[in-house]
Amino acid sequence: MAAAVPACIFCQIARSSTATTLLHTDDKVVAFQDINPSAFRHYLVIPVEHIATVKDLQRRPQDYSLVRHMLSVGQTLLSRDAPDSTHYRFGFHQPPFNSVNHLHLHCLALPFVPRWKRVKYSSLGPLGGFIEAHRLLDKLKP
Ligand SMILES: [Zn+2]
Ligand SMILES: [Zn+2]
Repeated sequence: MAAAVPACIFCQIARSSTATTLLHTDDKVVAFQDINPSAFRHYLVIPVEHIATVKDLQRRPQDYSLVRHMLSVGQTLLSRDAPDSTHYRFGFHQPPFNSVNHLHLHCLALPFVPRWKRVKYSSLGPLGGFIEAHRLLDKLKP
């Protein structure tokens, strides 16, 4: 039997089986450019392991350190590639607002392009469509 090809596009990217250029790889996460950028720089950091959404993360050390690592990789890439930006945003879409069911941290160096895109990456009041990485870390902190 042939090895199963994972159906999830982000799993395929994490295994380097697509043409996507990886900006960072280690044994826990990979980073690449968002295919449809919404800002001056717009990167995604994803875990190599398939985790569907923020709802699958729990208040425990391994999930907390994974998200902290994703954030620090994103911060390092943006401070290298967009050192002159004055605003950065890091966060996750919560279901049903997420596009791909493989956890991904949006790393944005502002300004948003076009400007209306900012709506997609702000916490939408009580609905909570977007959660900033720092807020998620507060929730996961063991
Ligand atoms: Zn996946
Ligand atoms: Zn997303």
